[in-house]
Amino acid sequence: MAVRFPFTQWISPRQPPEVERLLKSAATREGVLSLAGGLPGEDLFPRAALAEALEEVMREHGREALQYQWPEGYGPLREQVAAMLRDRGVEVAQDELLITSGAQQALDLLARLLLRPGDALGIESPTYVAAIEVFGLQRPRMVPLARGEDGLDLAAVRALVRGAEKSLLYLAPAGHNPSGSSLSAEACESLVELSRAHDALVIEDDAYGRIQFEAPRRPLRSYPGAEERVILVGTFSKALTPGLRVGWIVAPPAVTAQLVLLKGIADLQTNTLGQMALSSYLERHDLDAHVARCLPRYRERRDAMLQSLAEHMPAEVRWTRPTCGFSVWVTLPEALAAEALLARAIEAGVAFEPGAAFFPVETPRNYLRLSFSNQTPDRIAEAVARLGKSLRAL
Ligand code: PMP
Repeated sequence: MAVRFPFTQWISPRQPPEVERLLKSAATREGVLSLAGGLPGEDLFPRAALAEALEEVMREHGREALQYQWPEGYGPLREQVAAMLRDRGVEVAQDELLITSGAQQALDLLARLLLRPGDALGIESPTYVAAIEVFGLQRPRMVPLARGEDGLDLAAVRALVRGAEKSLLYLAPAGHNPSGSSLSAEACESLVELSRAHDALVIEDDAYGRIQFEAPRRPLRSYPGAEERVILVGTFSKALTPGLRVGWIVAPPAVTAQLVLLKGIADLQTNTLGQMALSSYLERHDLDAHVARCLPRYRERRDAMLQSLAEHMPAEVRWTRPTCGFSVWVTLPEALAAEALLARAIEAGVAFEPGAAFFPVETPRNYLRLSFSNQTPDRIAEAVARLGKSLRAL
């Protein structure tokens, strides 16, 4: 008899099985150019400097680096994160800061601490797929808030916070994935005002906050009055490397105290060696200068993608012009399904991410996300040309 495992819930894959299979096959198939994934450019990682930092930590502080530490994170790194945030207008006291294993763990801890089954969660639509997944595990009632290049549907936010006694919102004001847009200062001010007036709490995902092609952006948490209402989630993954798995949460002290306990329960602490290497890197190198070197390269890649889209897409296809982040968000005519296009596109030698998974509630099929971050301009041009051909053949 087949064993029936006592799963507490059934976790579905991100994409339908057929799409998962296609994307997996594309990853190993010779000659397929991938615009899927949204990975930072691996040619931009400061490998030599990080190798030196790792080596230095092991040589000079080996015992400490290989030992357990406290859940809140490595002290000097916490100071460095606080200083970085101060430069972006966020004043952080040490009892408001927790180091996490990437922003993803930050979202997981916050979801577990703040959401009960059936609670209302205001969530941008579309939004970051793995946020939908991690909040989804708590079984909240997801209330979609339309978000695109033109901003966030503030009327929907207002309706939600007015109608609920307490509400939680998950937003990416200063760098939204997948649209590649940031909210205006006025929209940020309204959000802080609404959250204060209606006792709402905002989880701000600032993962892409520093990947800005036009002007630097301040997080929502830096706006006056946001300290008690906005919980900031950040990461080194986009600006430096996701490989070390270091992120953080900034929250009011009472929330942070709970998060520290929960973090200890979840995984005791973020890995010591990675935190110490990162701290050593930050001591010797200027992260701002590194980001300033990366941004023109990402901008070049974005421009290559925008230019080839203009050359190769049929007239009825629309796309965003990202001012931040790693991807362009594409809208096909409603009658076309991204999944059907994917099968053809892989045959033609290009892969991308179908957009349905980025929607928390209704899942329209006619969207795709194309990432430019981890490809050269030449390859991007070729990939988009292939995509254009596949679309015309559909
Ligand atoms: N938030 C957003 C919007 C992201 O795109 C990502 C990574 N793709 C994360 C959070 C998680 O990042 P990490 O765990 O690597 O810090």
